[in-house]
Amino acid sequence: MKPLSDIFPLLAAPRNIVITFHQKPDADAMGSGLGLYNFLIQFGHKVTVISPTNWPGFLSWMPGAKKVLDFEMQNEKAVNALKKAEWLFCLDFNVLNRTKNMEPVIENLSCTKILIDHHQQPQTEVFDYGLSDTNKSSTAEMIFDFIINSGHSEMINTEVSECLYAGVMTDTGSFRFNSTSADVHKMVARLKESGLNHSQVHENLFDNFMEGRFRFFGNTLLNRMEIFYEYNTALIAIPQKDLIKFNVKTGDTEGLVNFPLSIKGIKLAAVIIDRGDERKSSFRSKGGFDVNTFARKYFNGGGHFNAAGGKNKEPIEEVIAKFKQAIKENKEQLTN
Ligand code: 5GP
Ligand code: MN
Repeated sequence: MKPLSDIFPLLAAPRNIVITFHQKPDADAMGSGLGLYNFLIQFGHKVTVISPTNWPGFLSWMPGAKKVLDFEMQNEKAVNALKKAEWLFCLDFNVLNRTKNMEPVIENLSCTKILIDHHQQPQTEVFDYGLSDTNKSSTAEMIFDFIINSGHSEMINTEVSECLYAGVMTDTGSFRFNSTSADVHKMVARLKESGLNHSQVHENLFDNFMEGRFRFFGNTLLNRMEIFYEYNTALIAIPQKDLIKFNVKTGDTEGLVNFPLSIKGIKLAAVIIDRGDERKSSFRSKGGFDVNTFARKYFNGGGHFNAAGGKNKEPIEEVIAKFKQAIKENKEQLTN
């Protein structure tokens, strides 16, 4: 993988570009993707943003979101754009299986593939150029650096700023996590100077849910949460019937895992959701417990030290049993 800076001199010549990110994108995936989109179109490039799957409704306000193709729902258009692409930007993921059904299509493309990501253990052999930096708060921060380092800071307009702010703000837990460096605050200052209305972004992301989501949270915290004080661990396991009963939509479960993590003494919080085709898990930790390794070892996943996820094909009962066995095996790390 050659350094990202090698493509700076090539930015001026218009070309066909596709930007993609991980399936079920969060605000950092979508925000970094659309931040880059709103930057690149200013050069006259033809840019198509493709999401491997659908995305939460609370991301649809982002400038450019209406043009994003859903690979599953608009497959023909998306495949055509991928075939024509000269450059493919892969953002906020580093292993191709995080693009779900797009994986075989991307594998067969001969175009230039560019990685910009902050997760651990990248599949670097797949990419021609790129930057993988686990010290970065968010992929949005890396897109900001990309724009500044390429010498085009004047192209940070309101559209770019809103998208990048959404990514950096959510991935730092509203500037709370350790990853919130002085550089992150300097970045936000720079975005404010370009006209960012940050409180509007917070409102767009956090004050736009349907009533059902809160009824679902209420039911989940009352009936689906189990605390294992012996292991400083909390587990929420959600059967598929709950998703149907409360009409839970993509993105509605985001943030749920943080509730049990706020309980005094809890070091590891997990949510396992039966999505029908697979069991999706989310892990969060406080302090020294490494959920990236935990998710990799037991749940075919990965992520960051304090925030990771995974997926399993087994029935939910088996995944829950696996989780209980896994915390037993990690008792020492969880209790000291
Ligand atoms: P979340 O729990 O919000 O879905 O994900 C937490 C973090 O772990 C995110 O940075 C996400 O990209 C990563 N992650 C979630 N699921 C998976 C997975 O199945 N595989 C890998 N490698 N990373 C994941
Ligand atoms: Mn991210």
